[in-house]
Amino acid sequence: MRIDVLTLFPEMFEGVFNASILGKAREKGIARLHAVNFRDYANNKHNTVDDYPYGGGGGMVLKPEPIFAAVEELVQAHGQRKPRVILLCPQGEPYSQQKAEELAKEEHLIFICGHYEGYDERIREHLVTDELSIGDYVLTGGELPAMVMIDSVVRLLPGTLGNATSAVTDSFSTGLLEHPHYTRPASFRGWEVPDVLMSGHHAKVEAWRREQSLLRTLKRRPELLEEAGLTDKEKAWLAKMQAGQPEQ
Ligand code: SAM
Repeated sequence: MRIDVLTLFPEMFEGVFNASILGKAREKGIARLHAVNFRDYANNKHNTVDDYPYGGGGGMVLKPEPIFAAVEELVQAHGQRKPRVILLCPQGEPYSQQKAEELAKEEHLIFICGHYEGYDERIREHLVTDELSIGDYVLTGGELPAMVMIDSVVRLLPGTLGNATSAVTDSFSTGLLEHPHYTRPASFRGWEVPDVLMSGHHAKVEAWRREQSLLRTLKRRPELLEEAGLTDKEKAWLAKMQAGQPEQ
């Protein structure tokens, strides 16, 4: 997969693209990650990328020309298949694990990081395929949201994670929150690891994890249960637990 991020602050990506899972995916050639300064595509003497809003008011607006020029060049140079062009925007569709899974199937993603007051509306209308938000709050720029999305997509690409199953059981991938984890020591300050995890009985461990996952989702994010494809038996068990107000 190739990922291009259009930004005015490419230096922000140096650490993120070279560390941890993203750095490994890059080294292994699984993901080609590029931060592109769209100021380089400004077609005026002072390399201006923003201007005052028509109609007045505070804040500067990103001009369309540099962003269109940068995207069009990237599409021409690397676009075997049409890329997804993603506008980071607090007004966009809320980002989710499902969206990460969808994006992980693409060959080429282009992220556009806004700044200042926002973008000229024609970018939104005529250039992008998706508008995505990471939450109902406003950040200074699209760089941090782009990093969040790129990390969540790249870790899903085959071969990126050492343990191939770890993304499969992650929260939201199964429709539920993930079960609790424990490691050594078995007893820490008098707090014990549940016996079943040390029993060596694989089927019992799996059953316990599934139950814990169901209970945790019930307690923290009950709305997820409706779409999680539970069996009738699981639904009945959860109803019983709910009636008994289980402590987690
Ligand atoms: N005036 C805009 C509004 O009210 O919708 C907010 C502009 S914000 C200061 C500047 C840029 O940061 C946005 O264009 C977007 O790229 C990015 N941004 C801010 N919050 C975001 C969020 N929650 N999700 C995704 N991108 C965000």
